[in-house]
Amino acid sequence: APRIAVLALQGGVAEHVAMLESLGAEALVVRSPRSLAAAAADGLVLPGGESSTVDRLLRRFGMREPLIELLDGGLPVLGTCAGLITLAEVIRDPAPGQQSLGLIPMTVRRNAFGRQVDSATETLDSALGPVKAAFIRAPEVVSVRAGVEILARRGTGVDGDGPIVAVGTGQAIALSFHPELTGDTTFHGEFLRRVRAAKLDGVQGR
Ligand code: GLN
Repeated sequence: APRIAVLALQGGVAEHVAMLESLGAEALVVRSPRSLAAAAADGLVLPGGESSTVDRLLRRFGMREPLIELLDGGLPVLGTCAGLITLAEVIRDPAPGQQSLGLIPMTVRRNAFGRQVDSATETLDSALGPVKAAFIRAPEVVSVRAGVEILARRGTGVDGDGPIVAVGTGQAIALSFHPELTGDTTFHGEFLRRVRAAKLDGVQGR
């Protein structure tokens, strides 16, 4: 089974673990450089939460550099919500001092769709088919650069003009929303397919 490290410094970890396990993966909760190394992961999940808090904790626990190293080595990654923000090259409206890991050449805007009480569940017409998505103080991808594929927009199909809420590169999938909260396995399934393919190609987080 593919070994998936789930970053567990803060935020919605348990639902990702449950969904990954339901799809036949082994989910390993990591919150230290040591547990990250011990996981010997084939893939990484960055859950939702609060991206500026995650950023602070990544640095406090010495996790930032090891994660960047693994991502530089090609480790496949799935980020949801705060995880999407953490993967972005540019955060348009960062919290004071907030940094990202900068993996995906795109610009994001935090809390783009209003407040927590405006959070909503809806079905997206994604590049992978219909996806049931929960939006919780969700970010928007305001622009993407070369090599980033748009996988879903909110309110329109991918060829429409709705705000971009899901993107992919050869290495990463990043979602503004939380499929792990609606039970929709479309993107987790796609992520695990990519992890298995990368594993065959010998990319591994060791
Ligand atoms: N608004 C949060 C942030 O800036 C993201 C919300 C979420 O992960 N559900 O990180």
